[in-house]
Amino acid sequence: MDKILLLAHTQDDGSLPKGAYESLNAVLKLAADLGGAAVTVGLLGGDIQSAADSLAGCGAVSILAVSGEDFATSRYSSDTVAVEALVKEAAPTLVLAPTSSRFSRCLPGAAYRCDGRIETHITGIEVVDGKVQVQRWYYRQRMVATLSREQRPWFLVIDPGVFEPWQGAAGSVDLQTLEVAVDDGCRRTRVIGVQTPDSDAQTIRPDAKLLFVAGAGWTKKQADGQLHIKQAEGLILDFINNSKASLGSSKSLVDQSSEGEVISFMSHLNQVGQTGSTPRHSKGLATCCHGEEPHTVGWRFISERRAISLDPNCGWAQGKADVLYVADAFEVIAKANELLAK
Ligand SMILES: Cc1cc2nc3c(=O)[nH]c(=O)nc-3n(C[C@H](O)[C@H](O)[C@H](O)COP(=O)(O)OP(=O)(O)OC[C@H]3O[C@@H](n4cnc5c(N)ncnc54)[C@H](O)[C@@H]3O)c2cc1C
Repeated sequence: MDKILLLAHTQDDGSLPKGAYESLNAVLKLAADLGGAAVTVGLLGGDIQSAADSLAGCGAVSILAVSGEDFATSRYSSDTVAVEALVKEAAPTLVLAPTSSRFSRCLPGAAYRCDGRIETHITGIEVVDGKVQVQRWYYRQRMVATLSREQRPWFLVIDPGVFEPWQGAAGSVDLQTLEVAVDDGCRRTRVIGVQTPDSDAQTIRPDAKLLFVAGAGWTKKQADGQLHIKQAEGLILDFINNSKASLGSSKSLVDQSSEGEVISFMSHLNQVGQTGSTPRHSKGLATCCHGEEPHTVGWRFISERRAISLDPNCGWAQGKADVLYVADAFEVIAKANELLAK
C-alpha cells in the first residue's frame, strides 16, 4: 500500500504558502484514488505550530516537524538533512511538495540521499490501473509527457496554480518533532539579509488573478502622429498598481530596449509567449498587442482572455480572445484607472 508524505515549509511570517495548500489537495485526491493511502505531513521552518494548526482538519495520520532557528531560512545543507530525516521517519512511497525556490534548491539532493527519484514541474497526477502517472510539459510548454516510475520514494514537485488550494478546518495539532543535528559545516552558509526590489518595481506577480499584457502599440505613433511613451508608462504602472495585476509583455515591446525610448520598467522577464513565459492566471487582458501566434501560445493557461486593439482584424479577433474591444487602449485604460482609483 502506498504511503504519501506532503512536504511544506513556512514563509517568513510563519504561515504556509498557497502552494502548500494546493499540494495538500493534490495529495488528498491521490490518496483517495489509490484506495485510501496513508498521508503524513512533514513541515520545515522556524516556528511552525500555527502552520501545523492550519492543517488540523486535513486527515493526515501525523504531522512531523523539523523546526528551529537552523531551519527558519532556506539553506541547502540544513534543508537536505531535514527533508532526509522527514522522509526516513515517514517512510513514504510518494513525496509531494509545492514548487518554491527553497524546495527547488534542496529537494533534488534530498531525493538522492533517500535513494529516490524526482520529477519537477508536475502539472497533473492520475492513477491508471493502480499505477501513478504524472504529467509535465517540455520544450517551452509545447509538448506534454505522461510519466511513471518504479523507483520509490518518488518525489513529485508540483507547479503552482494546477490544483485548488485546500480549505479545511484549523485546530490544535500535536506535532511530532524530529531532532535533526546541524553541524558547523552546515552552518557555514548564513542568511544575513534579503534584498528585493521595491513592491512598485516588482511587476511580475505569479499569484495575481489578472495578467495585463502590454504590446508594442503603446510605443507607436498615435492618432495625432506623435509618440506618447511617458503617458503610456504612467497608464500601465497605475493600472498594475491599482489592480495588483501581473505585468506581461509582447516580444516586440521588450526587444525595443536596444532602440531608444522604451517603457522603462519592462524587461525580457516580462515577455509572454513561445520564447517567453507561459504564466497561469485566471484572467488576461492584452493591450496594444496584435495577438500573433508566437505570443498567444504563452496564453495557453489563461482561462478568460480579453484584448484591446485598434485593429479589428488582429489575431485576438481571429479566435484567440473571448472578448476583443476595438478601441484606443490609452482611452480605455485611463478610464479603467479612474474607476479603480475610486
Ligand atoms: C521564433 C519566434 C518566436 C517568437 N516568440 C515570441 C514570444 O515569445 N512572445 C511574443 O510576444 N512574440 C514572439 N514573437 C514575435 C511575434 O510573432 C510578434 O511579432 C509580436 O508578438 C508582436 O508584438 P506586438 O503585438 O506587441 O506588436 P505589433 O505587431 O507591432 O502590434 C501592435 C498592435 O498595437 C495596436 N495598437 C497601436 N496603438 C494602439 C492603441 N492606441 N490602442 C489599441 N491598440 C493599439 C496595433 O493595432 C497593433 O495591432 C516570436 C516570433 C518568432 C519568429
